Amino acid sequence: MANKDFLLAVEGLTVSFDGFKAVNDLSFYVEEEEIRVIIGPNGAGKTTVLDLICGKTKSTSGSIKFRGKELTKLNEHSIVHAGVGRKFQNPSIYEDLTVFENLELSFPRGRNVFGALAFKRDAEVMAAVEEVADTIFLTEFLGTTAGLLSHGQKQWLEIGMLLIQKPDLLMLDEPVAGMSVAERKQTAELLNRITKGRAVIVIEHDMQFVEDIAHRVTVMHQGKTLSEGSMERVKNDPKVVEVYLGH
Ligand code: ADP
Ligand code: MG
Repeated sequence: MANKDFLLAVEGLTVSFDGFKAVNDLSFYVEEEEIRVIIGPNGAGKTTVLDLICGKTKSTSGSIKFRGKELTKLNEHSIVHAGVGRKFQNPSIYEDLTVFENLELSFPRGRNVFGALAFKRDAEVMAAVEEVADTIFLTEFLGTTAGLLSHGQKQWLEIGMLLIQKPDLLMLDEPVAGMSVAERKQTAELLNRITKGRAVIVIEHDMQFVEDIAHRVTVMHQGKTLSEGSMERVKNDPKVVEVYLGH
């Protein structure tokens, strides 16, 4: 398949841990501005796929092309620099700092600036923090110590800390786990807002949430794609019902 039009093209991706193939000859393609949800039973290899894309785990074979650039040869830092942001399951925010400070610290550092340019940068940082705070529903909490936020708000803050770096691909591992129903709805709204100019890959188990956000769904099982397509299509696929949705 020609991968020129895809933001991300994963082909024949395999990783073997002492002979066990956690991801086994996996291929999938993500378009610009797409929200792709990966679902599947525990141990299917979902988190490992994100680990491979962000360079935390090195593949055994296969290819991951992002805007045509091969990521399997790059280290984690270079992958972030190429425009891939990844959120882990547990939020890694600075609990003792305010929401504002957490976002400010995440703003990408450019070249050295001084004098009048530093002033310009301050205005730029301020504008970016305000814009992101609005997107993640935390405008009223900019002065609040992050440790005092609810679990859901902490998750949004971490998403904001990634957003302020303007990634072209954002990857989230089970972002609504532990959230209230209201927070889940807001998170769906948040994700639908942020796909202007970027794609998102989300791993999730909450089927209502998946319905609310997914453009396409990839169902993984034993390191491979079991089914792929619209939510409507995969939820009616007998193979998916058998290994996942039926449980
Ligand atoms: P999922 O996120 O779909 O629940 P994971 O990607 O976390 O699944 O794990 C897939 C399989 O790979 C599991 O059997 C897990 O134990 C194994 N695995 C994941 N990472 C490693 C590792 N670094 N070393 C050995 N086995 C691993
Ligand atoms: Mg996982």
